Amino acid sequence: MSNQALVQEFQRILGKEQVFLEETDRATYAYDAAVLEPVLPALVLQPRSTDELGQVVRLCHENSLPLTVRGAGTNLSGGSIPGRGGAVVLTTALNQILEINEADLYAVVQPGVVTARLAAAVEARGLFYPPDPGSMAVSTLGGNVAENAGGLRGLKYGVTRDYVMSLTFWAASGETVKTGSRTVKCVSGYNLAALLVGSEGTLGVISEIILKLIPLPADRRAMMATFSKMSKASETVATIIAQRIVPATLELLDNFTIRAVEDYSHAGLPVDAGALLLIEVDGHPAVVAEDADKVESICRQLGATQIHVARDLAERDRVWSARRSALPALAKLKPTCVLEDATVPRSQIPAMIQALEAISRKYNLPIGTFGHAGDGNLHPTILTDRRNKEEWARVEAAVDAIFEEALKLGGTLSGEHGIGTAKSRFLEKEFGTGTILFSKKIKAAVDPHNILNPGKIIGC
Ligand SMILES: Cc1cc2nc3c(=O)[nH]c(=O)nc-3n(C[C@H](O)[C@H](O)[C@H](O)COP(=O)(O)OP(=O)(O)OC[C@H]3O[C@@H](n4cnc5c(N)ncnc54)[C@H](O)[C@@H]3O)c2cc1C
Repeated sequence: MSNQALVQEFQRILGKEQVFLEETDRATYAYDAAVLEPVLPALVLQPRSTDELGQVVRLCHENSLPLTVRGAGTNLSGGSIPGRGGAVVLTTALNQILEINEADLYAVVQPGVVTARLAAAVEARGLFYPPDPGSMAVSTLGGNVAENAGGLRGLKYGVTRDYVMSLTFWAASGETVKTGSRTVKCVSGYNLAALLVGSEGTLGVISEIILKLIPLPADRRAMMATFSKMSKASETVATIIAQRIVPATLELLDNFTIRAVEDYSHAGLPVDAGALLLIEVDGHPAVVAEDADKVESICRQLGATQIHVARDLAERDRVWSARRSALPALAKLKPTCVLEDATVPRSQIPAMIQALEAISRKYNLPIGTFGHAGDGNLHPTILTDRRNKEEWARVEAAVDAIFEEALKLGGTLSGEHGIGTAKSRFLEKEFGTGTILFSKKIKAAVDPHNILNPGKIIGC
């Protein structure tokens, strides 16, 4: 089909107003939250039903047109930057919460539902959808599934993968594929949901998601522990875990990040602290009281200079929203903000923190470190200006060094932000050639025309 005929066919399926051809419209979808070169899509399509979505996929397949699905475009690894000459397919109009089932504890949603909207809708019914990426106010559930997003509560409650009961998706060639069920247990067929979760739009286009819900915890207690040094805070994290306490949230902020966040959010953080731990325990009130006491005493033993327990919900929310603003607060300081996601076993957090400090000195770069320390997932953030070529070369070398160190400590390249194009060249180093070859074979088998988000994860 000629390009013009193809555009006309998309317009017939979707309606003219759902096919964006103007460069000014397309430019909005040329980038995501990663520091990578934008790529202008050839066209942008916005289906309004799952059936339209399927027809779009089929037409792309028949015409070997690369397609990149896009939720909110907040991913940090280049996953929603389109392939050259390809289409961007938006899920933003597929934004219905189709069902919240209180008897069987699940929700059925379309992929474009914003994460925070589902969280609020279920919370209003005394239920809980725990995965809470820092971007949840805008990120979509389709994007969360495709990235296997984590969040602040990953330590106790796990990540998106742990809540996916069933997926319906369009295969590259346009057939509907269903996997999983509304039941708690289901071992019918291959576990295709496990394959799709974290596949970054490379293996199928998700059109419907069934997510597990759990009861809302009866009680919560949030506290902030102040330390004079990062080393003391990081040892405290490792000790809390080693003492078999699993807080819902255990976040670490270094002094650089504390000052940036305070400047941005005015939440009352202690700007002179060397490091902060933001901790929340939740569950039955008796367990909450016991765990909070234990955590407090560990913090004191390991040298916390101050421990402040949130007095009410408003204070608790203020601290968590300040923590969620860490990335925008840091990003404001310099033209380019490189946020990494290397993750290590929890016992190695102190070693990783030391390594980050050494890397910052060696490459003479400011690195703000914050993150979900309780699950070993740190976000060392380098502030720079990409236009400064000499400095940028040091940034790239520092990022390589961060990955090397994480792998050396038994960790992984990415705890939650995905591989996209940003980290695909490092993947072989983590897993070896056999894994890359096997992954390429799966991709070639399910997407023979290589239309689904080409170039991402395994680089083809
Ligand atoms: C300030 C900030 C804070 C963040 N905090 C966190 C955090 O705490 N934890 C975390 O894990 N991430 C975090 N992120 C990263 C990001 O928000 C997540 O990766 C999120 O899951 C992306 O959702 P999205 O809707 O923006 O997806 P997009 O960025 O639009 O897409 C992400 C990937 O999913 C694919 N995709 C989207 N929809 C579909 C679909 N229907 N079918 C198939 N593939 C699809 C896309 O092609 C792309 O590869 C943060 C980002 C920012 C900017």
